[in-house]
Amino acid sequence: MNPFEGLEFWFITGSQHLYGEETLKQVAVDSEKIVSFFNQSNQLPVKVVIKPVLTTPDSIYQLCLEANNAKNCAGLMTWMHTFSPAKMWIAGLKALNKPFVDLHTQTNRDIPWADIDMDFMNLNQTAHGGREFGFIGARMRLEHKVIVGYWQDADFLDELNTWMRAAAAWHDLQGARVARFGDNMREVAVTEGDKVSAQMRWGYSVNGYGVGDLVKYVNNISDAAIDKIIAEYNDTYTVSSSLQAGGQYYASLRTSARIELGMRAFLEEGGFKAFTTTFEDLNGLDQLPGLAVQRLMADGYGFGAEGDWKTAALVRSMKVMAAGLKGGTSFMEDYTYHMQPSGMKVLGAHMLEVCSSIASNKPSLEIHPLSIGGKADPVRLVFNVPSGPGLNASVIDMGNRFRMIVNMVDVVVPDAPLPKLPVARVVWVPKPNLKIGAGAWILAGGAHHTGFSMALTEQHMRDFAEIAGVEYVLIDENARIDEIKKELRWNEAYYGLSKGFLS
Ligand code: MN
Repeated sequence: MNPFEGLEFWFITGSQHLYGEETLKQVAVDSEKIVSFFNQSNQLPVKVVIKPVLTTPDSIYQLCLEANNAKNCAGLMTWMHTFSPAKMWIAGLKALNKPFVDLHTQTNRDIPWADIDMDFMNLNQTAHGGREFGFIGARMRLEHKVIVGYWQDADFLDELNTWMRAAAAWHDLQGARVARFGDNMREVAVTEGDKVSAQMRWGYSVNGYGVGDLVKYVNNISDAAIDKIIAEYNDTYTVSSSLQAGGQYYASLRTSARIELGMRAFLEEGGFKAFTTTFEDLNGLDQLPGLAVQRLMADGYGFGAEGDWKTAALVRSMKVMAAGLKGGTSFMEDYTYHMQPSGMKVLGAHMLEVCSSIASNKPSLEIHPLSIGGKADPVRLVFNVPSGPGLNASVIDMGNRFRMIVNMVDVVVPDAPLPKLPVARVVWVPKPNLKIGAGAWILAGGAHHTGFSMALTEQHMRDFAEIAGVEYVLIDENARIDEIKKELRWNEAYYGLSKGFLS
């Protein structure tokens, strides 16, 4: 999956007429210099496109309208090379519906101590132009990102890269379709939520389909297509002997392959980016889709089990943000604990559906009983996950808003092999430790289902939440229960009042 293909970010330089033609020409030259450096640096995931220097309220407004209507424009980068009186920006920013980042940088890194004169001073004014622009952002209560530093520095490019990924994930989500095969697992609370609110807030639509609709696609798959994909399984995984041709469960593997191909056809034809299943609603499907879900996730689909559409959409966005980065991203569930005082940790897994993008070894393709739901034994990939930093993220519906909760974790090697555990598994230590990490998570209402990633950082998730305009609660190495409690109470007040701030 290359979700960045064809996308653009527009580079917008703010100025004004007072400086005269010559200065404005230099402003345009400097802007081009920065944009061509960005594009040639190979440090940014998406192409940057330069736009003319803006000096009037009308040109700013027109450009913002163009950006809104440009299907491939994922966001704006603004740069106040000179002073650009910010009342000029009100109409444009009011209309703008794309994310934007303000680049608080200047062409020259150093002050030319020996040569600096008033011409130089008039040309290089980010230090106060950026502040004027910042004021109007603050005054209009516009959620936006500010990156301060020299545009060639590694940390500057890194911050910009992170934000661009978040904005691209946001772009991907607008108009995205989430398919639900069946409804929620009955009586579960956290996987419920307001789909109308979700569409208004996040931009994706969630719709349900009868499992019978999917079964039609599954039954249409040809034997030749099944043979072909089984050959791919044999090339990609260590296939257990009972699943090989002539083995006791070869027919089960063929059923699983048929389900995968049917799901793929359904999702591709409908243009879906994420989906959910539920083991309580499999009417006409012989197995709970395990391998199928694992492989579809590895190809970039978002997924949530038991009807969890919020997590399905979140996993999709996390996969977009993580595209091309080292480390995988998967649907995940906090399953069981190791509570030994010297090293409390979590074993994360699911009944079946963990994405092989996080595997440390060649996955093993196996068949085992599901032990819940009373269906035929499902085929699944089993693997471990390498140690290293990671995170878990959850989105919940608080009734009047969505809250995103992120817990940073250290993935560790299991204390011992798990020879009898028939599912993919990850062991991690939540930050700052299990006691505070799980305590804070539970107080914040975080789900047992998460998007898990070893590719993304806290900053990706924060940038994404800020673009979405949702509450963001971080649990990291500095987390304290008393502080988190206060934050949750304050957020309750802020989100109750914030609609009244917007004038
Ligand atoms: Mn679950």
